[in-house]
Amino acid sequence: MIGTVSSMEELDELYKEVILDHYQQPRNRALLENADVSEKGFNPLCGDQVQLQLKWKDGTLQEIGLQGHGCAISVASGSMMTEAVKGKTREEAQALASRVRRMFKEQGPSGLSDLGDIEVLEGVKKFPVRIKCALLPWTTLEQGLSR
Ligand code: ZN
Repeated sequence: MIGTVSSMEELDELYKEVILDHYQQPRNRALLENADVSEKGFNPLCGDQVQLQLKWKDGTLQEIGLQGHGCAISVASGSMMTEAVKGKTREEAQALASRVRRMFKEQGPSGLSDLGDIEVLEGVKKFPVRIKCALLPWTTLEQGLSR
C-alpha cells in the first residue's frame, strides 16, 4: 500500500517506482494448469500481448495467472491487476475493472486512491498513447469474466 498521493509530483515519483517494480517482478506470472478460463489480449498499437488464466472456487477467484510481453506499462498494469482481483468474486473483479476503465475516461480526480499500487495508473493519463497499454490486461480480464 502506498497511501494517499497528494500531488502530481509525488505521483510521478511513485509512478516510476511502482511501475518499475511490477515490470521487473510481475506478480502471478506462473501459467495455471487446469484453469477454468483462458483468455488472450493484444494491443496492436504497441505490440503488447497478454495471456490470462482464471481459476474459480466457491464463487471467488482462487488463482490467476498472467503472462505476456510488452512495454513496462502493460506488464506493470497486468501485475497490479492480478494482485487486485485475486480472491475477489466475479462481481467485485468486474466492478474494479470498470472503475479503472472509468478513471482513464474521466477528467480530474479518479478516486482510485484506496486501491494501493493501482493508484499510480493515474499517471498514465498524462500519456494518452499509453492508455491502451495500461487497459489491455483489464480488458482481457473483462473478457475472461464474461465467460
Ligand atoms: Zn504498450
